[in-house]
Amino acid sequence: MKNIILFGKPGAGKGTQAAFLKNQFNLVHISTGDVFRYNIKNQTELGALAKSYMDGGDLVPDQLTIKMLESEVEKSPDAAGFIFDGFPRTTAQAEALDVFLSEKKMSISATIALDVDEDLLVDRLLKRGLESGRTDDQDEEKIRNRFDEYNAKTAPLIDFYKKQNKFYELDGVGEISEITARLADILEQL
Ligand code: AMP
Repeated sequence: MKNIILFGKPGAGKGTQAAFLKNQFNLVHISTGDVFRYNIKNQTELGALAKSYMDGGDLVPDQLTIKMLESEVEKSPDAAGFIFDGFPRTTAQAEALDVFLSEKKMSISATIALDVDEDLLVDRLLKRGLESGRTDDQDEEKIRNRFDEYNAKTAPLIDFYKKQNKFYELDGVGEISEITARLADILEQL
């Protein structure tokens, strides 16, 4: 079983790459951001709870996010593996994920970071905001706040996974297909 975490700042290309890798390796793709957006669109209780945090570019509280992630994993008991995209984003989430997976006799195979410079990401996200209508992608201040959240709360996970010898880093700038090929090389070795 291959369970992969795609890691990187907002706009680094995690969702784009996950869409290719899930087909190539027959994995279930779970994007916590997509699940929250789906819940907001469908006006669920979870959506209502998450919305104010997302609108400001802040992280949704751990307890809510962890519960949601676990129920998404439970929906695919026969999966050959998972790609986690946008989760974990805090140490508490990473610890909860390890405990949850080990209860299921599963574990993380690798955490792969896509590295892209923040100024380039701002350009990418503003463009994506125009195309998708995502409000958190349309305002540079909110985008910078998401980077601040990443740097303060998510970046420490690099050491967390390095200590487990599971951390890989790739240059996230280049042709999309080139980056998919670099990721696939790593996945094939796992
Ligand atoms: P994303 O689509 O991954 O950029 O996520 C969009 C927004 O959803 C983030 O800015 C957070 O508000 C929220 N979110 C997504 N994943 C998480 C997570 N693992 N922990 C907390 N908040 C999250």
